[in-house]
Amino acid sequence: MGQPYRIAVGGFQHETNTFATTKATYDVFVKAGAWPGLTRGEALFDDVAGINIAIAGFIEAARRAGHELLPLSWSQATPSAQVTEDAYERIVGQMVADLAAMENLDGLYLDLHGAMVAEHIDDGEGELLRRIRKAVGPALPIVVSLDLHANITPEMVALADCLEAYRTYPHIDMAATGRRAAGHLDALLTGTGGRFKAFRQLPFMIPLTSGCTYEGPAREVYREVKLLAREPGVTGVSFACGFCPADFPGAGASLVTYGTSQQAADDAAEALYAAAVERESAFALEVLSPAEAVREGMRIAAHADKPVILADAQDNAGGGGSSDTTGLLKALLTAGAEGAVLAVLYDPAAAEAAHAAGPGATLSLALGGASGIPGDSPLEGRFTVAALGDGRFTGTGPFYKGARMQLGLMALLEIHGVRVVVASHKVQAADQAMLRHLGVEPAEQRILALKSSVHFRADFQPLAETVLVVVSPGFVVLDNRQLAFRRLRPGLRIMPLGPVFGPQSMESGSGGAAELAG
Ligand SMILES: [Zn+2]
Repeated sequence: MGQPYRIAVGGFQHETNTFATTKATYDVFVKAGAWPGLTRGEALFDDVAGINIAIAGFIEAARRAGHELLPLSWSQATPSAQVTEDAYERIVGQMVADLAAMENLDGLYLDLHGAMVAEHIDDGEGELLRRIRKAVGPALPIVVSLDLHANITPEMVALADCLEAYRTYPHIDMAATGRRAAGHLDALLTGTGGRFKAFRQLPFMIPLTSGCTYEGPAREVYREVKLLAREPGVTGVSFACGFCPADFPGAGASLVTYGTSQQAADDAAEALYAAAVERESAFALEVLSPAEAVREGMRIAAHADKPVILADAQDNAGGGGSSDTTGLLKALLTAGAEGAVLAVLYDPAAAEAAHAAGPGATLSLALGGASGIPGDSPLEGRFTVAALGDGRFTGTGPFYKGARMQLGLMALLEIHGVRVVVASHKVQAADQAMLRHLGVEPAEQRILALKSSVHFRADFQPLAETVLVVVSPGFVVLDNRQLAFRRLRPGLRIMPLGPVFGPQSMESGSGGAAELAG
C-alpha cells in the first residue's frame, strides 16, 4: 500500500426495467428499505457499515490502507421503471457539487449498479461519469464497482479507469467487490495498475435466471474470470451478465479487462469472450408454469423432509417486479397446497387492515394484483391474521447480511391453509429473517413460494429439497421474446441461440422478434 491518499467515495444505484410502470422518484431514493436511504456526508460511514454492499467493503479496505476518505452521497432504490429526471438531476447534481468542493483529491471510488436508465438519459452511469470527469478532470483515477447485472456501455469503460463487477449471483460478494475495487485504486495510485483496457459485448442476451453462479455456464464463466485475473500482466477482469429488460443500445452481457499492456488486456478479453460464447446453448431458459410447478412441487414435497422451493421468478422486486402478483398464490390454492407459505407480497393496505383487525381476526381482502399486469388480478377472499410485525429486523443470510430492514407494517395472512407474508415495502424474498419475523421457520415448511429470481438461493437453497423456477405474469419477463424491444443493438440475439434483434422486426408491436435469420 502507498502513502495515505485523499479519496472521495459515493454511490448511486438503480437497476432500471424500462418495461415496468412505476418510476423511481427522489423520495424512493431517500427512503430506507432493505438498505439505507440516501445518506450524504459523514453519516454515510455509519449508515453503510457492516452491510454486504460494495461501498462498505471499499471503505473497510481503504481505511485499513490508511487513506483519508471524503464522503459524497450514497443512495439506491428498488429496481423499477426509469429514474425520474428530477431524482437523477438532484442526486447527480449533489455529487458533482460535493466533488467540486473537495480539494487535493487523489482518487474517486463510486458504488454504481451499471444498469440505470433515467427518463431523459439512456446510460445513467455513462452520463454520471461524464459529468464527474468534467468536474475532476481527466487525470484523477476513478474506480467503479458494478453489479453483475450491469449493462456496461463503451462510455462507462472509457470514462472510468477501472470497472470491477460482482462475480456471484446471488450477490454474496458485494462487499468483497468493494474491497477488490480498493485494491485497484491503490494500484492505480501507486503506479502498478493497468492502464490498458479491452471491452467486448456478447452477441446474445443472458436470461436472468441463467446467470446464477451456483451451477451451469455462469459458474464456469466466473471461474474463468478468476483464473484470467491472475494471469501475468492482467490487472482486472469483469464479466457482466447484463440486465435484459432495458430497451436501449447498451443492454446485454459484456466483459471488460485491464492490463499493463494492450496485449495482456486483449488476450484476457478474447479468452473470456470465447469461454462465454462457446456456452451459449447452456444459457437457455428452463422454467415451469405455475400449475406445473405446484403439481411437481406437491409431488416431491409428499416424500421429502425438506421444503420444496417455488421461485416466483418474474415477480422479483429486485428486478423491477411489483411484488404483488397472485398467479402462483392462486395456483397453490387451486391445487389445495395446504401448509405452503408465499413470501413476500407487497400490499400496504392489506398489512394495515390486518394490523387494525388484530391477531386471530378474519377479514375480507382483495390481496395484491394491483399493478395492472395483463393476466394478473387481486386474490379476493376471507383471510385470517396469523401474525403481525413492524417490519424492522436485520438480515441474517449471505445476501442481505447486516441489512437493517425497514419493511413497514407486515402481516402473515392465512387462506385455506396457505399463508402469505405481506409487507409494506417492496423487497425480494431473499432472507429467512423475513419469514422468521412473523414466526415462520423456513426449514419446517413443506412448500415455500418465494418472490425472487435467484438471490433467494443464497439463504434458502441450503435448506431446500429442490428449487423449481416458475413463470407467472410479472414485470421481470424471463423470456426476452415477450418484450417489445425497439432500441437494442442491431444483430443482438435476444435469447441464447434465439432471434436476432432488428429494428424492423420489432415494429409489429406483438412483442415478438423476427425469426433467427439463417
Ligand atoms: Zn444484480
